Amino acid sequence: MMRVQYKKPWPLTIDKSYTPTITIILPTYNESQWVKKRLDNLVTQDYPMDRVKIIVVDSASTDGTGSLVEGWITTNPKVGVKLLREPVREGKFIAIAHALHLVDPTNEIVIFTDADAYWRQETLREVASFFADARVGGVTASILYADEDGVVRDDAYRAYYNLVRIAESKFRSTPVINGPLLAIRTNVLQKVGLPDFPGSDDSAFGSVIALAGYRMIQIDRTAVMEYIRGDVLQRRIRRANCLVLNFRNTKRYAKRMSVYVPSSFDVVWRIESWLTLINPWLLLVSVICLAAAISLEHSLIAVVSLGVGALALSMKPCRTWVLQQVYLICGAIRGLSNQDVIWNR
Ligand code: GDP
Ligand code: MN
Repeated sequence: MMRVQYKKPWPLTIDKSYTPTITIILPTYNESQWVKKRLDNLVTQDYPMDRVKIIVVDSASTDGTGSLVEGWITTNPKVGVKLLREPVREGKFIAIAHALHLVDPTNEIVIFTDADAYWRQETLREVASFFADARVGGVTASILYADEDGVVRDDAYRAYYNLVRIAESKFRSTPVINGPLLAIRTNVLQKVGLPDFPGSDDSAFGSVIALAGYRMIQIDRTAVMEYIRGDVLQRRIRRANCLVLNFRNTKRYAKRMSVYVPSSFDVVWRIESWLTLINPWLLLVSVICLAAAISLEHSLIAVVSLGVGALALSMKPCRTWVLQQVYLICGAIRGLSNQDVIWNR
């Protein structure tokens, strides 16, 4: 079903000559390795740069990120980059909330991005072209994972999820957002706000737009790269925790803000909530039941079932899927004590 949906044309008006004003918000904490490269990448987009502003918001980095950005601004005086320096680190959410206060009231699109990301040259134009359709409230882009040298990994699992997100987007909207790029129409952002429950992240920001009845789409006409760095396991569990929090809290947030509008997106929301909140535990419970049936009843059916399951693990997609279920369980448990407002960088 996803594949059929994926192949359908976009049911939207897309206009590549549409060039709204854009403000890009780039939060940084200890990004001295990446930040200059990131700014270079942003200002060399194939887009009229006089329509683009960039706000870097740095939360008291201890590795000189702030001075690096100041230096970059002095050597590139012609582009509109501003640096907002926070006196203490209070987390990414607080930082971007402060940066939003600096956005020009006439600005049309706000884009959040990360320092460890890289956009293709056409990305900004492709993203903007979808906003030509007034129904579109938010846009994210397909994601590719790259190692620190920029070599893109061949990742069957990632490719599968890109397909699912695009299929959901063509159907209506996707509730899961890729951190390297989240573009939001400013007046939609003003209306729905950013979900502010602890642990809310890019996905929650996108979900609320979809829940408010706008199209929140992942587009397929460009891709953004995210570099794999740091402790990968820690990060997967943290992200799983954020996903769990998103599906637990964002609909309630949308209702509390009185912006929730019933729409066909509710189908996507229900399926994805089930897959994120319930499915992992079903897997765990069934494995426990099968193991119990084997040890207590010597059940042949249980042996065969577990055996088939174990065999399936030899296929990479199954292995990654099972791992994702494990991350979601760990993430949900971790969420009981830690909502990841500030994380190791
Ligand atoms: P991940 O992609 O979810 O693993 O998170 P990252 O560690 O890559 O962080 C995403 C972006 O947020 C990066 O650009 C970070 O520098 C930035 N970031 C993380 N924590 C903070 C913070 O406390 N303050 C600010 N301003 N930026 C932060
Ligand atoms: Mn990152």
